[in-house]
Amino acid sequence: MQTEDYIKAGKIASEVREMVRVKDWIGKTVYEICEWVEDEIKKRGAKCAFPVNTSINEVAAHYTAEPNDPITIKDTDLVKIDLGAQINGYIADTAVTVCYDPQYDGLVQAAEEGLANAMSMIKAGVKASDIGRTIETTIKQLGYKPIANLSGHSLEQYTIHAGKSIPNIWSIGGFSLSENSAYACEPFVTTSEGGGFVRNGQIKNIFAINSRKKTKDPEADKLLDFIWENFNMLPFALRWITKDREEKEARDLLNILIKKKAVQAYPVLIEVNEQRVAQAEHTFIPTENGVTVTTKA
Ligand code: MN
Ligand code: MN
Repeated sequence: MQTEDYIKAGKIASEVREMVRVKDWIGKTVYEICEWVEDEIKKRGAKCAFPVNTSINEVAAHYTAEPNDPITIKDTDLVKIDLGAQINGYIADTAVTVCYDPQYDGLVQAAEEGLANAMSMIKAGVKASDIGRTIETTIKQLGYKPIANLSGHSLEQYTIHAGKSIPNIWSIGGFSLSENSAYACEPFVTTSEGGGFVRNGQIKNIFAINSRKKTKDPEADKLLDFIWENFNMLPFALRWITKDREEKEARDLLNILIKKKAVQAYPVLIEVNEQRVAQAEHTFIPTENGVTVTTKA
C-alpha cells in the first residue's frame, strides 16, 4: 500500500539521518560518506531514492561524490547530507546539516526551527504560501536569510519533484495541501551577508533519465536500459553505473546519453554571494487534522 510504503521508507531514512547527525565526519571523504549512508539505507531493506548529496559550505545542494572522490571534511566545514530511501518508488526525502564549527550553530538551528514551525502548522487545506511565510519569518527573526529560489516539493511514485512547490519565503498564489499526498519541506538558510539565492555551478554529478528514445549507439542504449531498470526516472550518480563497467567507459557512454538528451545532468547549486548554507528537510503526508511526518526521528 502506498501510505505504508511511504511510512516504511520514512522510518528507514530517518534512522539513517539520525546516525548521520551524530557521527564524526571530520577527515572522511565525501565518497566514504555517500557509500556509508547508501549502504545503511540498503541494509534496512529500502533502495536509495537518489544519490546521497554531500554539499559543503556555499554549495547548497546537488553535489554527490564522484567515484573515489577525495574531497575531505574539515573541522570548519558545514555539510548538508541529504538522503532518500524508497520502497516500491514511494520516497522519503530528508536532510541534516552537520557542522563542527560552533560559529555556524545558529545557521543550522535556523533551518531546523524553520522546518519545525512549518511542520507544526500542517494539515490538509493549508496553503503552501502560508508555509513559506512561516519559514521566512522564523529564519529572519533569528537574523538569517532563507534561500528564495530553493523549495520543497510534492512527491509521487518514482518522482521526486512532482510539480508542486513548497516555498521557503512568502509568495503570492500557490496551492493548498491535499490529504494523503506526500510532500517534502526543506528550508535552506544563509547568513545575512548571503544573497538569499543560488546559482548553477559548473559541476554536474547527478543525472536522471529524460527520455527512453534509442540513441543508435548500442552500448549507450544498453546503459540507458540498465539505468531505467535500476533507477527508473529517479536520479543516479556515476558511482552507481561503474560497479560493472570501467569508469572511463561509463563516463563516455553517459556523455553520449546526455548529448542525445536521453539523460539530464543537474548542476550543483551555489549561494550567489558564496556564503554558507544550512538545510533541514522532512517528508510528510497531511491528514484531516494534522500531519504524518514520515521522516520524524
Ligand atoms: Mn532532499
Ligand atoms: Mn527534497
